[in-house]
Amino acid sequence: MPELPEVETIVRDLAPRLEGSQVAQLQLRKTDVLRQVTKSRLIKTLTGTTIEQVSRRAKHAVFRLSSGHRMIIQPRMTGSFLVHEKPLTRAERKYAVLLCTLSDGRVFVYRDVRRLGTIWLLDEEGWSAYTGRIGPEPLDETFTPFVFADRLKGTRTAVKKAIMDQRRVAGVGNIYANEALFDARLNPAKPTNKLSLEEFARLHAAIVDVLQRALASSGTTLRDYRTGTGERGNFQFELRAYGRRGQPCVRCGKKMVTTHTIDLRATTFCPHCQR
Ligand SMILES: [Zn+2]
Repeated sequence: MPELPEVETIVRDLAPRLEGSQVAQLQLRKTDVLRQVTKSRLIKTLTGTTIEQVSRRAKHAVFRLSSGHRMIIQPRMTGSFLVHEKPLTRAERKYAVLLCTLSDGRVFVYRDVRRLGTIWLLDEEGWSAYTGRIGPEPLDETFTPFVFADRLKGTRTAVKKAIMDQRRVAGVGNIYANEALFDARLNPAKPTNKLSLEEFARLHAAIVDVLQRALASSGTTLRDYRTGTGERGNFQFELRAYGRRGQPCVRCGKKMVTTHTIDLRATTFCPHCQR
């Protein structure tokens, strides 16, 4: 958490507020979130630069800067973003990790209560290597069932684990893996190389569908996730598998079961209709 729909929601909220804005001043209050960049280099690079584009790659927010760099923030469990129009209150400053004062006086803040998130600063070459290690984006038009099957072929690993592997497919985490496998009526533990072409096609359609529906609902808020304007998502009300242990399957009425044996995370499924 957050996964593709949540980070996409955040960047869609932030893009119109930040794109074209110049960073007048930067304050970094904690350094343990930094990866491959020092505090002084981050401040030096960002000060005076213009945020040209705000986008998403997998579960990460990407800020393309006029300096030619990209700042990448992975919000993980407790990170959130807001653009403040007015000076920050004391409560708003609490847990703020990065504060970017823009030239028009607004303040863009990355806040992270437990600081599990990370901030990277990459040049063009670093970015190519970074993005090259991640699999295709499921909401891109080029993500066909054939591309999907090709990324997953040749592995005996459980299909749930395979679709959460960011090198194979970008942006799918535990919640949407549970949901997509339920929708596709596939057992999450099934070895990936045992899937038929028809099952690959079904799973492909289910992944794309659940991500699109979650995005339309601004994502899933179970605890900390907030949109780029501080709102809760709404997809938690639509979940059919994740978190429904012991409850009746919405398809067949039998009891949903949870296992931790696949990847140590909670996998909830219907043993009756997911084979
Ligand atoms: Zn069922």
